[in-house]
Amino acid sequence: MSSTSASQASPKFRVAVCGGGIAGLCLGVALAKYPDIELNVYEAAATFKEVGAGVMMWGRVWRVLSLLGLADAFRELAGDTKDGDTKRPFSYDYRRADIGPDGHLILRLELPYDLYLYHRAHFLDILVERLPKHMAHLGKRLQSYTQDAENGPIHLSFVDGTTADCDVLVGCDGIKSVVRRHIYEAMAAEGRPEMRDYIDPVFTGEITYRMMIPAERIPLRNGEKHPALSKTVIYCGKNKHFIGYPISGGRTLNVGAVITKPELEGVPYARPWVEDATPEDLASDFEGWEDEVQDIIKCVDSTSKWALNMLKPLPAYVRGTVALVGDAAHAMPPHQGSGAGQGIEDAYMLASILGHASVTRANLAQALRAYEHVRLPFANHVLSASSNAGKLCQLRSAHGDNEATLAPAIQGQWGWVDSEDPAAQLERALDWMNAQTGEVGSQ
Ligand SMILES: Cc1cc2nc3c(=O)[nH]c(=O)nc-3n(C[C@H](O)[C@H](O)[C@H](O)COP(=O)(O)OP(=O)(O)OC[C@H]3O[C@@H](n4cnc5c(N)ncnc54)[C@H](O)[C@@H]3O)c2cc1C
Repeated sequence: MSSTSASQASPKFRVAVCGGGIAGLCLGVALAKYPDIELNVYEAAATFKEVGAGVMMWGRVWRVLSLLGLADAFRELAGDTKDGDTKRPFSYDYRRADIGPDGHLILRLELPYDLYLYHRAHFLDILVERLPKHMAHLGKRLQSYTQDAENGPIHLSFVDGTTADCDVLVGCDGIKSVVRRHIYEAMAAEGRPEMRDYIDPVFTGEITYRMMIPAERIPLRNGEKHPALSKTVIYCGKNKHFIGYPISGGRTLNVGAVITKPELEGVPYARPWVEDATPEDLASDFEGWEDEVQDIIKCVDSTSKWALNMLKPLPAYVRGTVALVGDAAHAMPPHQGSGAGQGIEDAYMLASILGHASVTRANLAQALRAYEHVRLPFANHVLSASSNAGKLCQLRSAHGDNEATLAPAIQGQWGWVDSEDPAAQLERALDWMNAQTGEVGSQ
């Protein structure tokens, strides 16, 4: 079979992106603007698609989307007319909600960061529209790859029997990544058997119901619209929490309802990850919760249950000229709304480094290490923070339900959102690469 490749006359190198979810498509769109890089994006499914649910993006992700020149499209989609660089403070309400019809506020978290709320499928559409069609290859599930020489050309084999070659392989193939399996099997075969422990995801012990409800169906409360239609509200209880926030310019309420068996944390999850569920199951799991929650549950006419799995924080995102991006590198629980955002930050960083004038076929491995040098500690920190965030709002952290200490602990977990700017991180990665080679400098 012929390889599927782009048409550049003589590219400086060839990049294969395997996986066309939010991270892979964002990387593809970011790389496609460099005419001297040959790019092919291989997606296993027959179409690019996302689940029908909401996704939130923090200000730093917005900043990355702006740096990638995508601000206008995403601003319009968020139903926001403001300039993307404008800080817009927002607040999150955390409520104690499992002790009868009248819950109470634990914490109103006023954060100086902006937050954008999207419908996932619409978010993905914007990226699909911007990826040049000839670079996108659907129905291409990567099965395996081989490399004849260290950092030499990589030969890809797909499940449909076809093959393709590249110089850099980027695994954007999600939490069950085939590319991660290859990287970690190779490291194990080199005398580090403990690396096999990082291949498979682990269960968080948490299962979430997911649903979207048209806003007009939610009844008024005290003559006003439901609080979760104006802001993010997290209803907290013992080993459970319920979250609601508006998407699509407030026309839809996005809801997640998480139930946890802490004793199952870290064990393999044997059942299917997504299963049908009924509104009655949901109502039964949240029986006795406050009226604000019941008002939402009464409007649910269909739902499904998702087992939440995650990766152990990986010790490497890169091996030679193969890299991991997005959930393939750092699949995390959704409790800080950050998995996709971290994939977008990866994509910006990796594309900017590969597109740098000084990066050639000869120093690709060094370029990937620069990506890893900055992104790995940051994204692994967000992974751990996301896991802790779930424990805090399910009243199963060391603070339990002691609201006096719980509230400051919740407040303190968000510092990373407004820490080092993504553009500054890129400069740091390029400086690091420069220091390694003595040849490559940031421009
Ligand atoms: C309940 C829930 C709520 C969440 N909420 C948020 C939120 O509010 N904000 C946020 O930032 N994140 C959120 N996340 C996390 C976010 O959904 C993920 O981090 C993000 O979608 C991962 O994107 P990805 O592109 O890395 O992986 P995926 O979306 O998994 O995409 C991987 C792609 O690779 C393809 N693929 C797989 N194997 C192969 C192969 N062998 N060859 C070729 N293609 C392959 C798949 O078909 C798929 O298209 C949430 C997650 C959950 C479960």
